[in-house]
Amino acid sequence: MIDTLNRIKEETRQNIDRAQDFETLTEIRVRILGRKGEITQVLRGLKELDPGQKVEVGRLANEVKDGLEQLIEDKQRQLKARQLELALQSERLDITLPGRPGKSGGQHPISQVNDQIRTIFTCLGFTVAEGPEVEMEYYNFEALNVPRDHPARDMQDTFYITRDMLLRTHTSPVQVRVMEKMAPQLPVKIIVPGRVYRKDDDATHSPMFHQVEGLLIDEHITFANLKAMLMLFARQIFGAEVKVRYRPSFFPFTEPSAEMDISCVNCGGEGCRVCGQTGWLEILGAGMVHPRVLEYGGYDAEKHTGFAFGMGIERIAMLKYQINDMRLLFDNDTRFLKQF
Ligand SMILES: [Zn+2]
Repeated sequence: MIDTLNRIKEETRQNIDRAQDFETLTEIRVRILGRKGEITQVLRGLKELDPGQKVEVGRLANEVKDGLEQLIEDKQRQLKARQLELALQSERLDITLPGRPGKSGGQHPISQVNDQIRTIFTCLGFTVAEGPEVEMEYYNFEALNVPRDHPARDMQDTFYITRDMLLRTHTSPVQVRVMEKMAPQLPVKIIVPGRVYRKDDDATHSPMFHQVEGLLIDEHITFANLKAMLMLFARQIFGAEVKVRYRPSFFPFTEPSAEMDISCVNCGGEGCRVCGQTGWLEILGAGMVHPRVLEYGGYDAEKHTGFAFGMGIERIAMLKYQINDMRLLFDNDTRFLKQF
């Protein structure tokens, strides 16, 4: 029996050693140590031995049993450790791989031009003023010298909310609002960027667009000051080579009034499709503030003079970046927008 036990011990030790998985170990345990296992069979035969041998064989059987239990447990631990190691290896992250770049946004061309214009004029000492987009009819027309029966007040061009309230058609009402607040302090030196609304919709017009308005009121302000300042502005936006010219025009709120053209940014003045072969592009309207507007704003038209100008930001952006359809600016197509 001692030989049998030693044989079992040796064989099982080798089997445990060779086992590669938990199933094999379990099978060994059942076959050797289970209720019907080989060692149990040996222990059952003890009763046929004499007392002296019984003790000796019994002790050896228990030793073999404990020893094999221990071996199986050790092997199980070993297998678990290897399993974990394999899992870690297969799930390992390669932190040296470069990451996927995030998408970064950029400034819309309208915002870029808007910021540029703001910077140019704030450097010249202007402050930025803002006003409501839903405006009183009084500020949008009346106080700008456009009375109810004036032909410049074309009903078709305006979104009315009530009879006295509308979506502003230009940023000019802010001129009057600021003058009312400041009068009689001097100088008034503001620019007014903002959204305006008109009932237009085609390649060069949008029902919502952006304007920048400028207003300067002080003593001894002349048209020469206006020209010098707008020249400087045009060169900052379109480059030092740009030429400007003024054409007489009409606005109810300025007198005299003019429109300013710049030499064509596409052909440099030679004449092309962009400028309609004229060599010139219209970019803004300007003039000396009408005496009646000064009075509406609380200033003395005998002592104070000023100039005002206004331009569409979309138009400037379209000329600057050579965009041929204004609607592209509002489509939110990133393939278009990321070019700027
Ligand atoms: Zn041209």
